[in-house]
Amino acid sequence: MLLDVSRALRAPGEAFTFEHHERIPPQDINGEKVTFDEPVVLEGRFSMSGNDLTLEGELTATAHSRCCNCLEPAKVDLKVPFREVFTRLDRFHEDAGDDPDRLVFSGSKVELDHLTLTLALLELPIRILCRPDCEGYRQMAPRYTAPQKNNPFSVLQDLIKNDLNDQEV
Ligand SMILES: [Zn+2]
Repeated sequence: MLLDVSRALRAPGEAFTFEHHERIPPQDINGEKVTFDEPVVLEGRFSMSGNDLTLEGELTATAHSRCCNCLEPAKVDLKVPFREVFTRLDRFHEDAGDDPDRLVFSGSKVELDHLTLTLALLELPIRILCRPDCEGYRQMAPRYTAPQKNNPFSVLQDLIKNDLNDQEV
């Protein structure tokens, strides 16, 4: 959704507080469906300097998925600090330049849906658990860990042994 930053355009150098609401559509992450409560809230401040709009603050979201141990519903509260710079494109600089990852906007409104999705997904834990000590983990945890094949240190030890043997000869 669009954030109106016309206040900052009219008063460069001045910081303005904002609260912005987004929604994140359901995501498929490694075969698991992850949904987000509405709204996802971004709040903080923005200011304009030259052609650059600096947006900083915190994203707050709640994600729902399944616990990867016991498969019961699991909830993750996200709080993600952010600081991003959007460059304003005008008639004379219509393209984003060399950097395709550069964040840009035109006119007086900034599209924040992509940024919101990126911030939230990067913050999601790789293993979503219903609670940190989920019983499913203990039940499913392997009882012993097989010794690793191709352990680089065992190769190193062999080399050292051979080296010592050589010296003794
Ligand atoms: Zn669980």
